Amino acid sequence: MSDNDYHRRTAITRLAVSPTDESLLRETIEAWKRGCQVAVDKAWERCHSKSDVQQLAYDDVRENTHLGSQHAILACHQAAENIKSCISRRQDGKKASKPTYTSPTVTYDSRTMTIFPEKEQVSLTIHGDHARVRADLVLPDDEDGYQHQYLDRDEWEPTESTLHYRDGEWYLHLGFRKPKPDDEEATENGTVLGVDLGVTEIAVTSTARFFSAGELNHKRREFERVRGDLQECGTRSAHRTLETVSGREDEYVKHVLHSVANGIVEEALRYACDGIVFEELAGIRERLPDAAWHSEWAFNRLFEYVEYKAEAEGLFVDTTNPKNTSKRCAECGFIHDDNRPSRDTFECQQCGTRNHADYNAAKNVADVYLRREQQSSRGRGISQYALKSGTVTPNRGYTPYSHESEVESTDKPHLQRANPSGSAK
Ligand SMILES: [Zn+2]
Repeated sequence: MSDNDYHRRTAITRLAVSPTDESLLRETIEAWKRGCQVAVDKAWERCHSKSDVQQLAYDDVRENTHLGSQHAILACHQAAENIKSCISRRQDGKKASKPTYTSPTVTYDSRTMTIFPEKEQVSLTIHGDHARVRADLVLPDDEDGYQHQYLDRDEWEPTESTLHYRDGEWYLHLGFRKPKPDDEEATENGTVLGVDLGVTEIAVTSTARFFSAGELNHKRREFERVRGDLQECGTRSAHRTLETVSGREDEYVKHVLHSVANGIVEEALRYACDGIVFEELAGIRERLPDAAWHSEWAFNRLFEYVEYKAEAEGLFVDTTNPKNTSKRCAECGFIHDDNRPSRDTFECQQCGTRNHADYNAAKNVADVYLRREQQSSRGRGISQYALKSGTVTPNRGYTPYSHESEVESTDKPHLQRANPSGSAK
């Protein structure tokens, strides 16, 4: 079977690692990064298929790292994939230089990792001779445990997964696949998640997940006050402190944006989406005159973060024309200035639908994208967008999630609020 014959899903879970195992895993990360680097250095400008890179670089990887044989093979394959994407970037007229491996991750496959779903544990191969560590999966409570629909079902087969070390925590991005039924090849039933960006809510998804900007706005005002005091002071040491404060503010904003980006990607995975759609960012500052904390910079950053996190999960990210997404009723399509009686409220003057304005806009972002997609000759096969309780196909309407997909069991009438200042997931 080829790669296209499978449905693929990723389940993200935190991992509880003992202090001893933690240092072993960190050493494994270092060995993995070195292994990938050795393979890329060897194969760069020479070859790019997995088998060619493996043949050329495997011995070097083994000699220069303590990676086990299967991990050395995976490092060669990783290098091959990265070289391949450099080549295709260059074919698109973009710049691409030789990859360097700095991020704290390791790739696993079914030979280097075993999942024990009943025990909610995994065993992971570490560097050295056939050694493994065991760790507990820290799964969310049942309500949010979308991971179970892949972990607990035999039809989903574990495939390539990655271990990540982030902000002092360990995460596993567990890859699963199942064969597509034969007749599904031609059907077009891809799903997207719509995302609206804004002032009071940094982002709202078409599945009604809200990422509030409250904490961020509050902190930004505090930073601003401190900066004001320091500027007034005017001494040289105040100037130095000012630079430190600005640096800390930047770090804080980036941390929040990372955590929102992670949340958006998780939401797309939870609802089995194939892609994430934003409004085009050009001109967003003019469209959001109330903007206090954010600048085009912050939204661009957020978009970039989502883009690379999504890509790592096999999701695409695209944008669509923002015209009228805030004034259009996502239920009936009626467009009018009066549909927006206040910043947060949407109330359709034609069909009477009342909703949070940003949530209505998130649905419109997805809807506009789908309509464009339907008219395009080389589309992605996307035909619907995800809500919390079902999917919407333009012109055909709403389909609730079947009991088959357990997404429905997480459905709640209230809006789910996410605190972007919380720890990045
Ligand atoms: Zn309406």
